[in-house]
Amino acid sequence: MDCIYLDNNATTRSAPEVVEAMLPHLTDSYGNPSSLHAFGQSAQHAIEQAREQVANLIHALPREIVFTSGGTESDNLAILGTLAAYPTKKHIVTTPVEHSAVINTAERLEKQGYRVTYVGVDQQGRLDLGAFAAALTDDTAIASVMHANNETGVIFPIDKVAQIAAQRGVPLHVDAVQSLGKIQIDVRAMPIALMSLSAHKIHGPKGVGALFMKRGVRLRSMTIGGHQERDIRPGTENVAGIVGFGAAAELARHETPETQRTIAALRDQLESGILERFDYAHINGDKTNRLNNTTNIGFEALEAEAILIALSEAGIAASSGAACSSGSLEPSHVLKAMQINERIAHGAVRFSLSRYSTQAEVDATLNQLPALLSRLAALSTVT
Ligand code: PLP
Repeated sequence: MDCIYLDNNATTRSAPEVVEAMLPHLTDSYGNPSSLHAFGQSAQHAIEQAREQVANLIHALPREIVFTSGGTESDNLAILGTLAAYPTKKHIVTTPVEHSAVINTAERLEKQGYRVTYVGVDQQGRLDLGAFAAALTDDTAIASVMHANNETGVIFPIDKVAQIAAQRGVPLHVDAVQSLGKIQIDVRAMPIALMSLSAHKIHGPKGVGALFMKRGVRLRSMTIGGHQERDIRPGTENVAGIVGFGAAAELARHETPETQRTIAALRDQLESGILERFDYAHINGDKTNRLNNTTNIGFEALEAEAILIALSEAGIAASSGAACSSGSLEPSHVLKAMQINERIAHGAVRFSLSRYSTQAEVDATLNQLPALLSRLAALSTVT
């Protein structure tokens, strides 16, 4: 076994079927979809097929899907494009546990004079729905609330969030980058205006995503150019990437519940194996309402960065939400918002599995961890 890859919330291995679908568009089928000749039209046809495949995964209409360069651009476009469409409204509602594509956008907007309300979460990472309802005002241009958290896997009750936003007449944007392909999403069943999606979290290629825009939703484009993607996202399309996204969406749609159960069982084995072996290990996030593939474990009094390096040396890829800034390791903004004890937050490691994760990988990780962590504990300077 070369590498034990337990970092699937960061990115996933491209499925062989995805690579196969993309290949012709990187070789012989190189037409520009805007061209009228047969080369161009076959590329355009491939994009429209992919649009249908991505739409089907969330029960949207194909024309409600706008292809972008990924989750980050979709998040930016949803928020900035809505604000531009409602220029008199100056208030945004979001949460402190969003991905940086949303949080940093909100922070920049604050500097530009917008008012931002961050609706809090509890220690399990659960959203305060009462506070969300109370935060929405007549001046609120958009609410942006993620579906599932990338660090802890905690799932927000997005149907309830959508109902509350609709009652107040506020357009809701949902960052569903982490939930796509892991839990069922039906945009027909909830009044959601906008939803961000990304291909590389569902075994598709990097650098391609989509924004679901419910029919009738108002949004101004943030890119100025030609007429691609119905004027909302001009620029020559990433044809191969879009085709890969479509293929990945099709695979995800046909994945059986059995696959998700297998992923959950492996994650549970890894998690309980760790909790049994280390009495200083704690799970961060609501265990009852989490993505099947994710566990965020705080190793009290150890440093996440040291754990990740040691794991990497042992051939195991995992991750943490902590960002190393000017030599000091800041705990992740998500765990901070959850008010997780600093001694636990500093040692928080995220393990995230996929359909390609195996029993052998989980066993090997559990076998390696004791020696690796006891070495670190001996060296630890954290008190
Ligand atoms: N939103 C969430 C919740 C994510 O986890 C990520 C990626 O980590 C993004 C947005 C950004 O997506 P992309 O990498 O496609 O820009």
